[in-house]
Amino acid sequence: MEEVEFKKLHDPYLLQSKMTNPDHTLPRGVWVPGPVIVGAGPSGLAAAACLKNHGIPSVILEQANCIASLWQFKTYDRLRLHLPKQFCQLPLMPFPLDFPTYPTKEQFLAYLESYAQNFDLKPVFNATVVTAEFDGRCGFWRVKTEVTEYVSRWLIVATGENAVEVVPRLEGMNEFNGPILHTSSYKSGEGFEHKSVLVVGCGNSGMEVCLDLCNYNAFPSLVVRDTLHVLPQEMFGVSTFGLSMWLLKWLPVQIVDQLLLFVSRFMLGDTSRIGLNRPKLGPLDLKRISGKTPVLDVGTLAKIKTGDIKVYPEIKRLECNLVEFVDGRKEKFDAIILATGYRSNVPTWLKDVNLFSENDGFPMKKFPEGWKGEHGLYAVGFTKRGLLGTSFDALKVAEDIAGQWNSREKPKLLHGGKTNIDT
Ligand SMILES: Cc1cc2nc3c(=O)[nH]c(=O)nc-3n(C[C@H](O)[C@H](O)[C@H](O)COP(=O)(O)OP(=O)(O)OC[C@H]3O[C@@H](n4cnc5c(N)ncnc54)[C@H](O)[C@@H]3O)c2cc1C
Repeated sequence: MEEVEFKKLHDPYLLQSKMTNPDHTLPRGVWVPGPVIVGAGPSGLAAAACLKNHGIPSVILEQANCIASLWQFKTYDRLRLHLPKQFCQLPLMPFPLDFPTYPTKEQFLAYLESYAQNFDLKPVFNATVVTAEFDGRCGFWRVKTEVTEYVSRWLIVATGENAVEVVPRLEGMNEFNGPILHTSSYKSGEGFEHKSVLVVGCGNSGMEVCLDLCNYNAFPSLVVRDTLHVLPQEMFGVSTFGLSMWLLKWLPVQIVDQLLLFVSRFMLGDTSRIGLNRPKLGPLDLKRISGKTPVLDVGTLAKIKTGDIKVYPEIKRLECNLVEFVDGRKEKFDAIILATGYRSNVPTWLKDVNLFSENDGFPMKKFPEGWKGEHGLYAVGFTKRGLLGTSFDALKVAEDIAGQWNSREKPKLLHGGKTNIDT
């Protein structure tokens, strides 16, 4: 062990003292020889595994008490990966061969558990990072949780694009009689049987929740405010996503978009006739420019066509048990489910002005440039490209740090066994 004020991260004394005596005076600085990773979702785990593959240890700090908290706690029961498994596996470990093309949430979680086990990843749980700041005097990142300060040369941000629920302010929200919940707390249609439920937002989650509600004999309606692209999940027996990736190797994005729209119209019909107007830009072009993901239909459109799911425009206001829409219609609803998405939480804790935007908490440079900042700061999983983007970032980040790790300077030791990072 180096002669520094060093406490092993998994030191039972340190952990125990946190649990039994929160006021116990902990060491001010925990020196981490490798990178500190914030977040133990798929991105944090992938980053740590890729680093380990280069022989670099890391410390993962996770606010929840388990890995992949988004998938464990904030997803509905019927969820499966939207994209085929080959586009969702993390680096260095494929999905088991017997997994279906679209693994269930439980299968994905089991895969993540065995991924963590395979690379011997042991995150520090219940460790919410409250601030992280580069200390220019010593050239290290100071990463603070409520009880401990971790000090490292590298900081990898892996807190995800879905850290905080977006809850719109709707006029009259407090007057509405029924429950209003975000999809992050929706598990299934159980409890909504024979109820009239308004689902606000028509991304993949909103569409799927409507379908789930139908399966539980509820009466769902969908608020569609903006234009959107809906594509079949598969075309000609292959995934639309896989087909698009293949076509993009040979054809420009606008041509691929025209092909996708042509086949979609043939398979799904004219979506504008059921209140779902398409944007002017094609689905892939729109994704490239704005990051807006097309919806992959898993059966919701058929239910809209049969009238089992009704479509409404934007909400104007809520009153008691009524919802008034901008077209003047007023309808009675028992519950409202907000499928209004998530946002990044990075600006709330990271003090940085060069990699992440303070406005949206995403890297300012677009994919594939957004993974690296200054002074050893990195981002994994902010590409708006799901788990495929996570894998790309994790491999890049680990390779970049490996270059520095091999030629790194040891922290200078001061007299008395203190490093220059202790204040
Ligand atoms: C319903 C749903 C379905 C999806 N389906 C797919 C799909 O099929 N395919 C696909 O590719 N993508 C899908 N996604 C996108 C999804 O974001 C990724 O699959 C994946 O979860 C991203 O991993 P991540 O590690 O970047 O973020 P997350 O999974 O959100 O993990 C981030 C972790 O960081 C922790 N954290 C946050 N802030 C702090 C802090 N301050 N201190 C410490 N820890 C912190 C969180 O607790 C969390 O555990 C889906 C998303 C949702 C919501």
